[in-house]
Amino acid sequence: MRYISTRDGVLRVSAQDAIVRGLAEDGGLYTPEVLPNFTAHAFESMRDMAYQQRAVFVMNAFLDDFAAGELSSFAEKAYGTDKFDSPAIAPLRRVTDGVSCLELWHGPTSAFKDMALQMLPHLLSASLVKTGEERSVLILVATSGDTGKAALEGFRDVDGTAILVFYPKDGVSRVQELQMVTQEGKNVGVCSVRGNFDDAQTGVKAIFSDVSLRKTLSKRGWFLSSANSINWGRVLPQIVYYVSAYCDLLNQGTLVPGEKFNVCVPTGNFGNILSAYYAKSMGVPIGRLVCASNRNDVLTDFINTGVYDRNRPFYNTLSPSMDILVSSNLERLLYGLSEGGAEEVREYMSSLAETGRYEVDETVKKKISRLFWAGSCDDALTRETIAAVWKEHGYLIDPHTAVAFHVFKQYRKETGDTAPGLVVSTASPFKFCDSVLPAIGVSPVSSGTDLIGELSAAAGIAPPKNLAALGSKPVRFTGVTEKDGMTREVLKMLER
Ligand SMILES: *Cc1c(COP(=O)(O)O)cnc(C)c1O
Repeated sequence: MRYISTRDGVLRVSAQDAIVRGLAEDGGLYTPEVLPNFTAHAFESMRDMAYQQRAVFVMNAFLDDFAAGELSSFAEKAYGTDKFDSPAIAPLRRVTDGVSCLELWHGPTSAFKDMALQMLPHLLSASLVKTGEERSVLILVATSGDTGKAALEGFRDVDGTAILVFYPKDGVSRVQELQMVTQEGKNVGVCSVRGNFDDAQTGVKAIFSDVSLRKTLSKRGWFLSSANSINWGRVLPQIVYYVSAYCDLLNQGTLVPGEKFNVCVPTGNFGNILSAYYAKSMGVPIGRLVCASNRNDVLTDFINTGVYDRNRPFYNTLSPSMDILVSSNLERLLYGLSEGGAEEVREYMSSLAETGRYEVDETVKKKISRLFWAGSCDDALTRETIAAVWKEHGYLIDPHTAVAFHVFKQYRKETGDTAPGLVVSTASPFKFCDSVLPAIGVSPVSSGTDLIGELSAAAGIAPPKNLAALGSKPVRFTGVTEKDGMTREVLKMLER
């Protein structure tokens, strides 16, 4: 299978090239030229498989030049029970008769980013070998939270790779900072930057466009890459859990083969829900794709009107991983739906770059409203939903998941559609103790990592091991740099 840039109808590359390059040279995103189609028989055979085998089955359909044995070894490493605290890897939790929750936070950092970032490093490392690249890759990440830690865990001790994460000194929570500065592994580095997230991000972008630095690195056998969510190697592993969830819904008797179910996804950069769209296109009988946003509701408006307009205020909310104004992965959906192909997408994207806005044509609008439904949920409703789900079902959820629960309820009420629902849960509530505790009626008396124990006591639930151990892990990284000093940190890292 070949991959094509969303902004160029001609350029075709192999899967390994798409994964090594990340972004296409024309600024587009690599997307499969055609999607595989799974028959009822394929789903039947996957029902008895473990998650790791389902991952091999699905990924194998997209990665021609990777042997099944190779993919099996990646899946064993990425989704081992030493990394995940549930043998099901992405287990379902039945909340009511008609609604199940897909828990994507049983990995090493307790957030859904692990599902993809545990797999990407293996795909990347093997792709480097396949493309004949002899240099090693240095992954640079600027993070405001979950991605940095998940990328560190994914790349730690993976051959041919090293990773350096920059975070804003005063822009992440104490728990998030501790998660990063206690990171283990021989090939990892973490450094804080004086300033906010934008400073860290601008610094990383400047490093990427520093031609002389690239030359220096290349002489020493290194080149730079990023692990951000537009890489095909991050989207693909996310398709797996939708296929897997369908198999599990069949196995638990919630669905009969071919029966439709609706999926509701708490959405930021549009990567997760895009994967659900691909799964649907491949034959998973998903009815509606329900897109849940917080107060930053640019996607809600887009899906309801066909107008994408980023010219609006930015809000910091209780669900920070969804605080976003430009959802990069939406470009892949536009490519999939537009009749004008790459040329049409290029026009939308240049309009977005120039004016911050674009409007899709009638055909795309119609397709979007058949496939998707969208709603949003503010902080007050987020708290209410955490409280209600806890009280009514004894199920503790994080603020991102709460946004999805609320919007799914809205969807059912407004459409009357009572088909079985799958609500996607993207983080452990223990990652967001400071908002979950008050929501369930407890005024926190402690701070930092002590909140984890407090939530555990209040709810009577054990916290994930990685979070419980945080307070006692040795700090390995204490570096602070000015924005101007980030290049030096890169060079220092490679001298170690
Ligand atoms: C990244 C993230 C999201 C948003 O996912 P997208 O793929 O960017 O839409 C939602 N919830 C949590 C907890 C996340 O970390």
